[in-house]
Amino acid sequence: MSTRVAVVTGGNKGIGLAIVRALCKQFPGDVYLTSRDVGRGQEAVESLTSEGLKALFHQLDINDLNSITAAAAFFKEKYGGVDVLINNAGIAFKAADPTPFAVQAEETLKTNFTAARDMLTHFMPLIRAGGRVVNVSSFISRHTLNNCSPELQQRFRSEDITEDELVALMQKFVDEAKRGEHKQGGWPETAYGVSKTGLTTLSMILARRLSKERPNDGILLNACCPGWVRTDMAGPKAPKSPDEGAITPVYLALLPPGATEPHGKFVSDKEVQPW
Ligand code: NAP
Repeated sequence: MSTRVAVVTGGNKGIGLAIVRALCKQFPGDVYLTSRDVGRGQEAVESLTSEGLKALFHQLDINDLNSITAAAAFFKEKYGGVDVLINNAGIAFKAADPTPFAVQAEETLKTNFTAARDMLTHFMPLIRAGGRVVNVSSFISRHTLNNCSPELQQRFRSEDITEDELVALMQKFVDEAKRGEHKQGGWPETAYGVSKTGLTTLSMILARRLSKERPNDGILLNACCPGWVRTDMAGPKAPKSPDEGAITPVYLALLPPGATEPHGKFVSDKEVQPW
């Protein structure tokens, strides 16, 4: 059997690094720490080496399609596929950041939704039977959903929303934010929240597609919240350590062979949450 391989995006620090650390200890195969910056990524690999752990490195900037396709080609060539993909990379503007909301909306959606989707578009065909795909979303995705207009909530919760419709809705948010009309459009005032609502909804759409198109492959795909975690993104007051934040993503990545659930769910503290 070929060597199994796990890939983590945004692995150079924070929750991503903690996920790589946990996978190095628990995943029976090669574990790739990927990051957009080669220097920061290699430094993180060395920090794990000093803990006695062996992670491998590959450059991967999810905002750069060439970087995504080059990485996908590398894993296809070297391993013939991918067994675990954890889409962890993400950004958030600080609450006090004076950047105009329209710019925050465009930038945040670009990384947290569009680039995460690009990753899935190019990596899903590589996911081997029995594979696990984990999208690191946030509780804020659900909170944001609950604060959308009833019409938007209905679409995000519907079983028949398509990927194209979701992409159009995310673009509508950005366009309306640029015109200062997002509130009239039914959106709450949070670019990060909308981006993660999109990512959680996308996870559900792709899971339904997997069940339909690859029903016998036993692939499980879920979105999750790591909790509120002390990282550069969330700051020092958050209650969870990065290693604690990694617990749910890693649980989903290591769901045992033959497991049939959770699939297409939003999971927090290892529990399926209502959507
Ligand atoms: P973090 O410490 O800021 O780390 C974010 C990681 O994402 C960094 O490695 C960063 O790389 C990487 N990244 C950003 N843009 C990227 C790109 N275009 N390509 C590749 N990597 C990119 O944040 P964190 O708290 O660990 O967050 C990790 C994930 O958890 C995010 O998706 C976040 O939304 C989610 N989350 C966090 C919390 C929390 O409380 N911390 C709560 C809910 C959800 P650089 O170092 O190069 O910038």
